[in-house]
This record gives sequence, structure tokens and C-alpha cells, in this order.
Amino acid sequence: MTRTRHPLVRRLPATEPAWIRETDAVVIGTGAAGLAAACRLADADVRVAVITKGTLGDGSTAWAQGGLAAVVSGRDSLAQHVEDTLTAGAGLCDAQAVRELVSSAPAAVERLIELGAAFDRDGSGALDLGLEGGHHARRIIHAGGDASGAEVSRVLAGAVWSAVAAGRIEATEHTYALDALLASPSRSAAPRAAGAVCGVRVIDSDGVVGEWRARAVVLATGGIGQLWATTTNPSTSTGDGLALAVRAGAAVRDLEFMQFHPTILAVPHASANDRGRGVLISEAVRGEGAVLVDADGNRVMAGVHPLADLAPRDVVSATMQHYLVEHDLDHLYLDGTHLGAAMWEQHFPSILAMCRDRGIDPVTEPVPVRPAAHYHCGGVVADLDGRTSVRGLFAVGEAACTGVQGANRLASNSITEALVAGDRCGQLLARRLPPRRRPAVAATGGAFVPAAARAMINRSATRNAGLLRDADSMVAMLDQLAGTERICGTPTPADLEATNLHTVGTLVATAALRRTESRGCHRRLDHTRPRPSWLRHLTMIMTAAGTLEETAEGAGLAGIQRDEDAA
Ligand SMILES: Cc1cc2nc3c(=O)[nH]c(=O)nc-3n(C[C@H](O)[C@H](O)[C@H](O)COP(=O)(O)OP(=O)(O)OC[C@H]3O[C@@H](n4cnc5c(N)ncnc54)[C@H](O)[C@@H]3O)c2cc1C
Repeated sequence: MTRTRHPLVRRLPATEPAWIRETDAVVIGTGAAGLAAACRLADADVRVAVITKGTLGDGSTAWAQGGLAAVVSGRDSLAQHVEDTLTAGAGLCDAQAVRELVSSAPAAVERLIELGAAFDRDGSGALDLGLEGGHHARRIIHAGGDASGAEVSRVLAGAVWSAVAAGRIEATEHTYALDALLASPSRSAAPRAAGAVCGVRVIDSDGVVGEWRARAVVLATGGIGQLWATTTNPSTSTGDGLALAVRAGAAVRDLEFMQFHPTILAVPHASANDRGRGVLISEAVRGEGAVLVDADGNRVMAGVHPLADLAPRDVVSATMQHYLVEHDLDHLYLDGTHLGAAMWEQHFPSILAMCRDRGIDPVTEPVPVRPAAHYHCGGVVADLDGRTSVRGLFAVGEAACTGVQGANRLASNSITEALVAGDRCGQLLARRLPPRRRPAVAATGGAFVPAAARAMINRSATRNAGLLRDADSMVAMLDQLAGTERICGTPTPADLEATNLHTVGTLVATAALRRTESRGCHRRLDHTRPRPSWLRHLTMIMTAAGTLEETAEGAGLAGIQRDEDAA
């Protein structure tokens, strides 16, 4: 049994809705996952509302540099891509989900190309494939050298805007999803049956509370990187979807597995546009031959792993962090000076520009780097079609935990997953929408964590739940979070994000304390090795009292899949 000592916020405070609208499906989030789902739903003439708290096409997707992993070359094989994914996942991947992802990936790339994606090509016109850590073959499809995510966002957002113009999608920007609308329990429901979701309460761009009522709610809200003070993630990645899902009663899984990217530019934020987001130096730079060194030029990864600088991320980041602590250093260096100006200019123009903007020239000097929070392998328990343990609630992309990423994501598998799962979820809902349900009366008012607490939450996560953690640090974090002030009143979006980050921080620390081993990207200083008894997932739900409880692995999802198959 895993329990938090202090109750979490059960509902975000909100006034009565000033407006109520009805549709068939609401997609929350417009990164790759949400846009892919929305496109598929619009193609099938399902009425769909798409909302984002930013602008259409924002989120981590737009910042991705390396690209998308897919087997598109005769020199590669699906079996090798599966094997590389399973190896990186350190025993916690769902092999069937991985096989489905890998075999669907080439079609997902093809679909983007049909929509107009201009991926980089070699002299013969074939896709120019990059290499990244943990991959045993060149299989990373990229665009604009290192602007791959921007291209994915561009084509998918373009397709969605076209559907909006044709009246097939309703899209609203600057609209913040607060909480799911929970359905009134049906008379036939078993007493302990998980609930159902029938819409979402939002704050619209005028600051007005409204309700979208829908047969399906698709969470595509991305990751949680903003929990940490240093992250590659944009300001939108505040774990809102994870917190919303847990408040709706959904099971969440493997939250302790936060991947830290090894190479974030280690200079103080020089640009006001960064908004807490660190500058990432893509792994593809190491794929082309750059190496990690200390100030004296000693190779950091030599002899550590057969793939050296291209070892899986968890290995590289943890090795760097140990090196930094052992030698009392602030950062290491990525040396790509031998790659030459042409390579930097042609393959990594955005990274080159971002470094030069901050006073570093990678062509002539090693780039100071350190690891930072990057990708959440855990999330809302879901299958690759997006079904969660709560009826009517679906989760896709980084917000979901489908078993594809295991204890450590293989580089460039996440956009691929977002596209495949978003598309499959759209197809599932186009085939069969859940029944329309009546919402139960939702509470209004309530307490929230003020935005002023966010700096403390960030500091605590960075100090206590960083790359290297132990029981003492997790307990310290849980104590700090439990002692966080809560206030009543009318929250701003910044207060709501702080409240969600508080919930997410408690979830992550609880899971990281519970898993007494080191595996994948979860590294404990007090339990330094994997333990066979932990070769399993850690799945949790929130109780009605706002505490966390460990629950069975499937946590109701298998039952929902069975019912649907039987229907
Ligand atoms: C710098 C960087 C580089 C990366 N490089 C790669 C790479 O090369 N290859 C790769 O595979 N992966 C890469 N990743 C990871 C990858 O980009 C993400 O995992 C993936 O794009 C997630 O897509 P998504 O659609 O699930 O979420 P996102 O793209 O993050 O989109 C989330 C959406 O949800 C919205 N949202 C969030 N909360 C709310 C709310 N409360 N209400 C309304 N809307 C909300 C956001 O505004 C946004 O529209 C990188 C990530 C970063 C940050």
C-alpha cells in the first residue's frame, strides 16, 4: 500500500459554468498526439472540439530537434527497432505495445509526408536518416536539420486549421482544461466500478468558466518537465493532464521514471523567450561524432558502455551526474569542434544559432552542458488506442503510459508514439464513441496552491527528485509539499498550474520513494541496482480522501477493453 500522508487537491476550484457546449469528442492539447487524433476524428466526420492552453501546435512537439524513429530503410529492420526499444526500456516495456508501435511507425511517417512534411533527404532523394543513442541503425527521420518537431507541428496544425475552415473541427486557443466532468453513476454500475467522464470544465480565453460536454475526452497534454527548475520542456508542460486524470480516478503508472537529457546548454538563460526552458543540444550531434569531455578533454563515456557517447540516455545522464558530483563540477562539455562548420551549419542550424546567441560557438569551442529534466516515461495508464481505466477518458502521447517507453524511452520514439497513439485513438472513437452520459453535480470553490509556491516546488524537485535520489530526499520533498500553503479564492491559470505541479510532484516523489531499486532513468543512491522483485510497474490511484494508493497493474483497463470487445 502506498499512501501520501496529506490529502491532495481533489478538484480545482471553479465557479459555475457561464456557458455549456456539446460535442462528440474533446481533444485537450495540440502537440503531435492531440493534432493526430483531431485529424483522424475530423476525417471520420466526428464532431470534435480541440482546445489548447497555448496556441495550436504548441507544446514539446514544436521544440523536438532529433526527429522521429521509424524503420524506412532496407538496412534496418522492425525486429532491431523493437529490440533497441526493449533494451532501453530496462525490462518495463510492454513487448506487444512496442511491436505495434514499431510496425505502425513507417505508416505514420508516410501520412505526414502525404500531409506535406518536408523531411530531409539525401542526394538520391531518399530520406536522410540520423542516428541517436541506443539505436543500432540509422532510423531518425528529421527536417530542417534539427527543426524536426516544428515541421511535424506545422503540417498537423495546418491540417487541423483546414478542417476548422471547413467547419469539421472547432478549435479554441488559450483555453485551459481544469477538470473532467464526472458522470452520474449509472444504476446498473457495480458498487466499486471506476467512474466515467463526460466532458471537461475549462477557463476560456476571456477568463470565463465553461463546460464542454462530450462522449469522449482525449488528454494529449504532454509532459511534466516544468516540475524541475531546469528542463528542456516548454512552459506548457506542467502535468495538467496527469493531475486531471488522477483527480478523475484514473490509474497512473511508473511516474518515477523521468528521463533527464544529458546535454542541455549550461549557461544562464540569456533569452527572455526561454521561460524556464533550457536549450537542448540534440543527441543527433553525438550521433554525428561529438563526444562528452571534461575541462581537460578527458572522455567521460569511454569504457562506460559499448556504445560510449551513444549509450542509452539513462546511462549517459547518470554517468555525467556522478562525474559532476565526484569532481564537484557545474558542467561538462560536448566537443563537436572536429565536425566542422559545414556539418553544424547544414545539420544543426537551430542549435548552432541558439548557442551563438548565448555566446558559445560550437564550431570552435566545446559546448558546456549538463543534464536536465526532459521526458516523462510514466503517465496515465492507457493502451495504444488511448483507453484509460476511466470510461470516456482517453490519454495519448507523453501524458499516457502505454508500456512503449518502459523505464527509459529510446530517443525519438516519443513523437512516433504520439502520432501512432493519437491516430489510433481517433480511429477507435470514429468506430465507436462511448455513450453520452449525464454529468454529476460538480463542486465549485475549494482551495488551491498559489503560484508563489511554484519556485519552492521547482527547487524541491530539483534538489530531491533529480537524476540521483534516495529515501531521505524523497521524504524531504514529500514533507515540503505537504507543508505547502493552500488558499481559497479565484485562482489564476498560474495558480492552477502550481496546484497541478504540486500534485504531480507528490505523485512522482511517492512513486520514487516506493521503488527501492535503480532501473532505467530512476536512479537511487541508496538502492543502486535493479531488483528482480521490482521487475513490475508501480500503478497508483487517488482515493476519495485525496491520498494515493497502489493498485493492481491493469487497474480496470483490461475490464474496459473486454467490455468493448464484447459489445
Ligand atoms: C526540446 C525537446 C526536444 C525533443 N526532441 C525530441 C525528438 O527529437 N524526438 C522525439 O521523439 N521526441 C522529442 N522530444 C519529446 C517529444 O517532443 C514529446 O514527447 C512529444 O512531442 C509529446 O507530444 P504530445 O502531443 O504528447 O505533447 P506536447 O507536444 O507537449 O503538447 C501538449 C499540448 O497540451 C496542451 N496543454 C497542456 N495542459 C493543458 C491544459 N490544462 N489545457 C489545455 N491545453 C493544455 C499544451 O498547450 C500543448 O498544446 C523532445 C522534447 C523536447 C522538450
